[in-house]
Amino acid sequence: MPDVPKTRDFLGSLPKAELHLHLEGTILPATVCSLTARHGVGVTEDDVRRRYNYTDFLGFLDAFKWVTSFLRDPADYALIAHDLCEQLLAQRVKYAEVTLSVGVMLLRNQKPEANFAAILRAAEEFESRDLILRWIFDAVRQFGPDAAMRVVESANNCASPKIVAFGIGGDELSIATKDFVPVYEAASAAGLHRLIHAGEIGGPEKIREAVELLHIERVGHGIAAVHEPALMDLLAYRRIPLEICPISNVRTGALARQSRRNGVALSDHPLPQLFRHGIPIVLSTDDPAMFHTNLTAEYAAAQQMGLSDSELGQLAQASFTHAFDFKDKTFS
Ligand SMILES: [Zn+2]
Repeated sequence: MPDVPKTRDFLGSLPKAELHLHLEGTILPATVCSLTARHGVGVTEDDVRRRYNYTDFLGFLDAFKWVTSFLRDPADYALIAHDLCEQLLAQRVKYAEVTLSVGVMLLRNQKPEANFAAILRAAEEFESRDLILRWIFDAVRQFGPDAAMRVVESANNCASPKIVAFGIGGDELSIATKDFVPVYEAASAAGLHRLIHAGEIGGPEKIREAVELLHIERVGHGIAAVHEPALMDLLAYRRIPLEICPISNVRTGALARQSRRNGVALSDHPLPQLFRHGIPIVLSTDDPAMFHTNLTAEYAAAQQMGLSDSELGQLAQASFTHAFDFKDKTFS
């Protein structure tokens, strides 16, 4: 048996990168209360904890909509970006690519350029504390290709080298993958890497379409790949990483859905099988405040699934290797 306290130290002290992390999912209950107070709404931390408690994907999306309804001006975004940076440093995260739901900002008639400028200012002071942040502009799939194109235009307007990628999240079952081909072509023309959530609640065909039609460079979740050996071979051969977020998959019901039964646990997660098939894996938290997790806890979860200390070290290294803008690829 490994010595548990020593192992927890080991996981906590590993230098790590976070590559699948939504800013709007990092708002801790105390920060939600600060946000709501700014807008004259009385909410207690217990209220937030009740909201952050759900058993399926729709319940999670409802909570996400609720908490983001209090992100109304650039100062709100600055507040949560500052809080995020403190959380990352506490996890010994050195580098993160953080997803911004620009599609939601546009839906609410906000100016993404102003929000993003406030976020950059809030994160700036952390650069001297050894934390590098890069940003992913994210569209919402069910809002459609035109709305997604406006997210790419927002990235162009911001004209920041710190925006490294374009992605799509939301309901992956809503609109056909092929409809987004022109959007990804525009994103590439803007110098952005290509990401998408696929195979989280959808089947392996969603991942294959994303790879073949959109030329995706990393897949958000992608746990459905485990159902199709030929797809696992393809991901391993082409070195296309899956951004795996185990605790998210349990809490949203995505793992139960992929397993086609209720009552699943972390021990049912396909991470070990995908990893040992040779597919690059980057371990991530997704929405840590909303899933009651953090990056060290995700490594502990992987350990609970049977990964050795050496394999956990490989995962930490992979999180830097598959980053889009981390210069020292042999960081340790
Ligand atoms: Zn996500």
